[in-house]
Amino acid sequence: MKLKKGDIIIAVILIAAVGFWLYNSYISSNTLISSLVIEVNGSTYKKIPMSELKKEQHIHIDFENNRHIDIKADESGAWVQDVICPDKLCQKTGAINKVGQSIVCLPNKVNIYYEGDEESPVDNVAY
Ligand SMILES: [Zn+2]
Repeated sequence: MKLKKGDIIIAVILIAAVGFWLYNSYISSNTLISSLVIEVNGSTYKKIPMSELKKEQHIHIDFENNRHIDIKADESGAWVQDVICPDKLCQKTGAINKVGQSIVCLPNKVNIYYEGDEESPVDNVAY
């Protein structure tokens, strides 16, 4: 069997994709959660240490245009309880409970994610 250039490129892309996936799941499963971060408009709105998540937390944020978001978080995870936003994708995302996962509400410019104990390269990715 002779490999064509196109086959090699596809193989390289596949290997890279699998590697990236493995790397991400490694990061997710091996990084201890240190805190839950809620960003609004690109800056940190609230940072909740894991110790405080033993008790259920309720974060309510009001926006202009009578919009709001209700976020709940406890030891088991964080999720959007209620939101006024056009697509409600953030609510449909469901709960997150690992470093590397995030809930994004684009219309309200909200980003919810966990911060890990270790410096993970995931944090350094610029969006
Ligand atoms: Zn939303």
